[in-house]
Amino acid sequence: MKVKENFDEILSYLEDSSNFKNGKADKVFIPETEDEIFEVFDICRREKIPLTISGGGTGTVAGRIPDSGYIISTENLNKIIKIDKEKKLATLQSGVIVNDFLKEIEKFGLFYPPFPTETTAFIGGNVATNASGEYSFRFGPTRKYIKRIKMILTTGHILEIKRGEIFEKDGFIDYGIFKVPLPCYRTPDVKCSAGYYSKEGMDGIDLIIGSEGTLGIITEVDLSLIEQLPQRFIIIMFLKEDERILDIVKEIKEKKDQLEIFSLEFFDKKSLLFLKDDFNFIPDDTCAIYVEGTNDTEKIEKWIEIAEEIKVVDTVIGEDPKNYQKLIEFRHKLPENINSYFKKINCQKIAVDASVPEERFEEFYRFYRKVMEENSDIHTILFGHIGENHLHFNLFPIDAKQKERAYKIYEDSVKKAVTLGGSGFAEHGIGKLKHKYLEIMYGKNGILDMVKIKKIFDPYCILGLNNIFPKEYLNLV
Ligand SMILES: Cc1cc2nc3c(=O)[nH]c(=O)nc-3n(C[C@H](O)[C@H](O)[C@H](O)COP(=O)(O)OP(=O)(O)OC[C@H]3O[C@@H](n4cnc5c(N)ncnc54)[C@H](O)[C@@H]3O)c2cc1C
Repeated sequence: MKVKENFDEILSYLEDSSNFKNGKADKVFIPETEDEIFEVFDICRREKIPLTISGGGTGTVAGRIPDSGYIISTENLNKIIKIDKEKKLATLQSGVIVNDFLKEIEKFGLFYPPFPTETTAFIGGNVATNASGEYSFRFGPTRKYIKRIKMILTTGHILEIKRGEIFEKDGFIDYGIFKVPLPCYRTPDVKCSAGYYSKEGMDGIDLIIGSEGTLGIITEVDLSLIEQLPQRFIIIMFLKEDERILDIVKEIKEKKDQLEIFSLEFFDKKSLLFLKDDFNFIPDDTCAIYVEGTNDTEKIEKWIEIAEEIKVVDTVIGEDPKNYQKLIEFRHKLPENINSYFKKINCQKIAVDASVPEERFEEFYRFYRKVMEENSDIHTILFGHIGENHLHFNLFPIDAKQKERAYKIYEDSVKKAVTLGGSGFAEHGIGKLKHKYLEIMYGKNGILDMVKIKKIFDPYCILGLNNIFPKEYLNLV
């Protein structure tokens, strides 16, 4: 097994895409076999050394970055073990890079529906954060496609669990090696990546999905796949940013299946300003609705009719491969441009990432608008996955006073989403950056129930410390 001990070699493991600065580790272990994982767990258990699991390092909440101890990287657990074209099922190790996997299954005419936006992530990282992706409006998050997980625990046990075999009953999930109590909170029925999953009658595999490296190391997974997607096209409709947006989006959502829509996104007027230099077709003073759908003449004609009906200012269509690619870039460029601009002016982004049930979205959208109006001195933008009732609300405070207010707005937004039956954390997970806010969603008792679960899986309390809840909570149970 490769072990890295030089500071220079370790440095890159102390980063992800969160800009978290407090990473520290003494060693990085890179196992290739289960025996080597046991070896690392033995050392850490014996010497009581915290251990953090590292995947592709694309996470946004510092989940893979420890503040001390050792790191175990899954980068050499990277074999695609089997692809069964007939059953549309793949078995792979957790360190497989998403992009490599997508390319491999393409040869079999298959597709991985979670289709994560950042394809340098590892499959294990996707499972550990319940990642969503480009087409989660149509297909949902990673959770839906996980059929089996093999996980090694710090106790030395191997937990192998197939979907459909173990369910919560009478308040417990019985994994054979131990029984786990169902937490007192329930995971809301919205896009959500917030702590351990909890539902009456839930499948035991769902507790592992989204557990952010706190319960054990996922070594292998079975994923269900679908046939390759039909050719797609993109239409971006630019229109005046007014009251009609919500009705228009509602109408488009109703046509989801009829028009085979894969993604439905929104960009407000201020977010489009960050794209103007790259895409000169953006008309002044407009917001945009971005749709990716099946590329056939009849459906495209239908979209042109819709655009006329809603009196767009302008429309751009990516139908042929070159223009399609350009508009894919349009979607991806926004977070990139925002991050580099504010990094340049040394301004920290505060990003609300909440989702709410369909019927409460209008209220939540109006809440954001009101906050934006009342705090117009702070630079804010609103964009993202409107099809899933999940927008990114980014705030860019420029001084200490604005920062204080921006954090208060962050907290109020999470509270509002929770009051509306939603999640304060729709994607990316909690990691270390958001753990102090998770209590808003589940209450202190909910967090303590998570701690109890963690201590059953990892009684030595060495794994993924500070992810999901602060490590001090481990002493409270
Ligand atoms: C440009 C960009 C766009 C993104 N878009 C999205 C998006 O649309 N939706 C979304 O959900 N996320 C998105 N992300 C975030 C990120 O890609 C996902 O969270 C991804 O799933 C992280 O995978 P990773 O392999 O990089 O994990 P890492 O960052 O290495 O780790 C993430 C967490 O998973 C744990 N972990 C990793 N591997 C294992 C394992 N084998 N066993 C147990 N625990 C493990 C780690 O301990 C850590 O807590 C985006 C990131 C970027 C940079």
